[in-house]
Amino acid sequence: MKTDEFYFKIIKQNVKKILSSTLSIAGFYKHLHMGEVIILMYHRVLPKKQFASGNSQANIIVSAESFEENIRYLKKQYKIISFNDFFDMKKQHTWSKKERYAILTFDDGWEDNYYFAFPILKRYHVKATIFIATGYIGTDRHFFFEGIGESLLNLCSHPEKLTLMKDCFQEFDLNASQLKLLAGESNLYRASRIINGVIHTLKTKSPHLLEQLSKQCTTSMHISHLSRTMNWEQIGEMSNSGIDFGAHTINHYILPELSLTEAENEINMSKKDIDNRSINTAPVFSYPNGSYNNDIINLTKKAGYKGAVAVNPGSITFMNDSSLFELPRINILPHIADSKKLFQFKLFKAKV
Ligand SMILES: [Zn+2]
Repeated sequence: MKTDEFYFKIIKQNVKKILSSTLSIAGFYKHLHMGEVIILMYHRVLPKKQFASGNSQANIIVSAESFEENIRYLKKQYKIISFNDFFDMKKQHTWSKKERYAILTFDDGWEDNYYFAFPILKRYHVKATIFIATGYIGTDRHFFFEGIGESLLNLCSHPEKLTLMKDCFQEFDLNASQLKLLAGESNLYRASRIINGVIHTLKTKSPHLLEQLSKQCTTSMHISHLSRTMNWEQIGEMSNSGIDFGAHTINHYILPELSLTEAENEINMSKKDIDNRSINTAPVFSYPNGSYNNDIINLTKKAGYKGAVAVNPGSITFMNDSSLFELPRINILPHIADSKKLFQFKLFKAKV
């Protein structure tokens, strides 16, 4: 990161902290979101010591310690409900203007949700919805961003593998200078910024090609420590303790990049896969990468869902029907989860 950019970021963070402290002292947060619902989005939860050594997708991992703090705060300040509760309360007009509500969600179905988030959710008797990509559950298959990300991260400690990586990316018009920058990079923060950039540019490529690329990268770089998704037994156990499961497609493909027939299949079949099992289901779908368009919304409605979550910030009310298929979610990034002040501020910013 350039020096100016670095200082600007520090200043911005401090301004946010001062502003959030002022709002907190003034008691401003107490009246926030009355009669409204905020939806929080998490992905992965790991104990601090487990990801201190670095992970290519650090921006989706919240520490278990901070996650517990977030839950403690939310439980005190909000009524935590499920999507089923939301639709019931909406229909029966049983919600209160004097109460504020929160829905907790996790995307993808990572195994760490079972090992580290679930015990906390159970301890605090908190409801949550996990959106799973059903084609990964209980298999050795890994998400392309995890496979490619970990291969790129490996390049930092093994610069001698640069040619190998360049060969893998041959068919993708990737700027080779980014790979060169990663080779031997010792600063994890800088490395993860480059990796995120590479993955971001790849997201618009064909999902089938990306999966192939991921396999090729991990094989030639000998990557064997990829994070996994949970299995159906773990899902069954969580479901018995009140966790709901919703669909996040079968293959985690970015839906607007697919043909309409393929997209429809992803939306319908993942729903069927979940509905056919004896688990608690959520009547809501989650768009991979938060990507959708009008066609995708129509297919999701046609499949029988009552709503769908996106990744745009905001809050909802029980009266509004217009955005049920674009439900806003607050993305809880690791540094937000780590600081109570930033966490409060992030929730505050989600005001309608
Ligand atoms: Zn996802």
